[in-house]
Amino acid sequence: MSKTIVFCEHTGGQVRRASLEAIGAATGAGSEVVALLTGEGAAAAAATATGAAKAICLTGPAEYSADAVATAAAEVTKAEGANAFIAASTYRGKDLCPRVAAHLDVTPFADCVEFTAAGDSFHVKRPWLAGKALATLGSTGTIVATTRLNVFTPADGGAPAETAEHAITAEPKAVVTSIEAKAGAKLDVKEAPVVVSGGRGLQEADKFQIVEDLAAAFGNAAVGASRAIVDLGWRPHGEQVGQTGKTVSPQLYIAVGISGAIQHLAGMRTSGTIVAINKDADAPIFKVADYGIVGDAFEILPALTEAVKAIKAQS
Ligand SMILES: Cc1cc2nc3c(=O)[nH]c(=O)nc-3n(C[C@H](O)[C@H](O)[C@H](O)COP(=O)(O)OP(=O)(O)OC[C@H]3O[C@@H](n4cnc5c(N)ncnc54)[C@H](O)[C@@H]3O)c2cc1C
Repeated sequence: MSKTIVFCEHTGGQVRRASLEAIGAATGAGSEVVALLTGEGAAAAAATATGAAKAICLTGPAEYSADAVATAAAEVTKAEGANAFIAASTYRGKDLCPRVAAHLDVTPFADCVEFTAAGDSFHVKRPWLAGKALATLGSTGTIVATTRLNVFTPADGGAPAETAEHAITAEPKAVVTSIEAKAGAKLDVKEAPVVVSGGRGLQEADKFQIVEDLAAAFGNAAVGASRAIVDLGWRPHGEQVGQTGKTVSPQLYIAVGISGAIQHLAGMRTSGTIVAINKDADAPIFKVADYGIVGDAFEILPALTEAVKAIKAQS
């Protein structure tokens, strides 16, 4: 049976959902999982790493250092005889994995959407060519990979049966001294289960409010944007979906007044269900949409928002 180290981020004493999905990716491919946690509260959060057989908490400096944690993570991977090291494709996971891969002298696989057992290891599937193709990749060495958010189901199972410690001994080269939440911070477009994105079809910045209203009606939706309107200064770059923005894979993606340029599709085409609203029936977005509404966003969105509110009120 293969063994996988899964780097588990945690907040408020709980392992983050993105990391639980990474555990699910490994257990789903039949691997035994060792959860690796670091930072203040790691020991308490370890109990919430459901699906992992064992948890290892890194001990050492209080401040997070990607380079020092990567050294320790590679040490743990080798000491445990693991075939794989996986982290969620978050900022921290994307920062950590290439460093771990460098220590293990292997190539990291980013943003994977499928893991399948292959002997004592895995094959991974990841989007290529801006999402136009899916590549299946294997490695003769340890697999080091990040998992695309919202693709994998968190693993079932109980808390790890065993918890151990491993000391961070490498001298940190760079440390995170503080993390400040943005005032009025909203749900991140990468992590939300529902994303409502708007594009240039919304005509002007003030009219974008109809997209915000629909997202608010869902209650668990984030707002996304095409690059065209980010470049116009209507929306912040943090909301941009696409090749030069964020890659999202929510359960539901609603594209409003977005043409569906290849660079936009690169960031959202693996979403669960895609709904496109566009007044041009030939818009390329309809080629990837599961449901398409041809019409004026200014008529359709308010009606959709009221319908979502009515359904939410009943549930
Ligand atoms: C190197 C590079 C990287 C890029 N990276 C990204 C990226 O990360 N993300 C990204 O999004 N783009 C990216 N782009 C830009 C991309 O090529 C497109 O220009 C951009 O996605 C277009 O944005 P849009 O769909 O909002 O605008 P448009 O292409 O102008 O489309 C607007 C759409 O709105 C529709 N519409 C108009 N009025 C209404 C209405 N009342 N109701 C309903 N529909 C209406 C129109 O029919 C049209 O389809 C990149 C480009 C390059 C060259």
